[in-house]
Amino acid sequence: MKKIAVFPGSFDPFTIGHEAIIRRAISLFDEIIVAVGTNALKKTFYSLETRKEMINRVFENEPRVRVDQYEGLTVDYCKRNGAKYLLRGLRTAADFEFERAIGQVNKSMAPDIESVFLLTVPEHSFINSTIVRDIIRSGGDASKFVPAAINLKNYKGIED
Ligand code: ADP
Repeated sequence: MKKIAVFPGSFDPFTIGHEAIIRRAISLFDEIIVAVGTNALKKTFYSLETRKEMINRVFENEPRVRVDQYEGLTVDYCKRNGAKYLLRGLRTAADFEFERAIGQVNKSMAPDIESVFLLTVPEHSFINSTIVRDIIRSGGDASKFVPAAINLKNYKGIED
């Protein structure tokens, strides 16, 4: 059976930290669905369409990575798509505590789905979307924190 993993997140915006986790996970799974979570109550800097377009550009030559969006419980999305694995990246002890709670709740709701955690490489451990967003909002150059395929000049935030 095809091994499908879902990599869920806000990706506001997608960073080289996210990209590295996905590229390393490609050898573990047959397909990875990058699932952009949508939540009507959560304001984002980039629109859903922009976030999806950025990620699609990064993986346009990687047929095993697909980009999608979802609303609601991540485990329900996994079930609808036949995914038995939930992929997450870990940077810090704070990430671990946060992911432990989510992972354990997900396990109790959906025992068939395994969460798989990859540790970030040290060079990416300080990179997070919030900081990248702040640099962009303040007019700084955040290009080294996002994949080369994403030209930030081509995208406008919706929030400000
Ligand atoms: P969420 O809003 O669900 O935290 P994010 O877009 O911030 O979504 O992150 C999605 C996933 O990517 C999470 O598992 C997060 O820990 C991981 N991640 C984010 N930044 C990095 C990074 N620099 N290195 C490794 N993993 C990361």
